[in-house]
Amino acid sequence: MILPILKFGEAPLHERAAEVGGLTPDIQRLIDDMIETMYAAPGIGLAAPQVGVSLRIFVVDLSVGRKADDLVVLVNPEFLELEGVQIEEEGCLSVPGFNATVARPMRAVVSGLDRNGETITIEGKDLLARAFQHEMDHLDGKLFLDRVRGIKRDLIVKKIRKLSRAGKW
Ligand SMILES: [Zn+2]
Repeated sequence: MILPILKFGEAPLHERAAEVGGLTPDIQRLIDDMIETMYAAPGIGLAAPQVGVSLRIFVVDLSVGRKADDLVVLVNPEFLELEGVQIEEEGCLSVPGFNATVARPMRAVVSGLDRNGETITIEGKDLLARAFQHEMDHLDGKLFLDRVRGIKRDLIVKKIRKLSRAGKW
């Protein structure tokens, strides 16, 4: 089922998500729905808080469904290593229509449970490392805008507030 994606300003996006206690049938259904929602958007990543569920789960697929091997499902993820720096333009399904330049580590090693409850460790570089960090931020209640400084951030937030007042957000 394709789930509605929350937008900037809605509570679960701005709160720290809770650890997943067990991979129950409900959680399996949520993971299926998140994958379907990510592909439908289309997007390369989606975190559970974006569909209103404040739990530590994200899905990432740089191929957006074209290559089965590219799909990553992580439950209760943690970073083992972060290194280097990359500066790229970034956007988010929860902040549609806005992009900003965000500096992030170039390489990320993330570990967590897959959907079968097995511990997996994945190394990401460049865009994959960025996607892991972007989605992990969602689990901590952070959006990419929170990593943008000063005028650029204020400008985007002001535009969102204006859209919101006009009922267009
Ligand atoms: Zn996002």
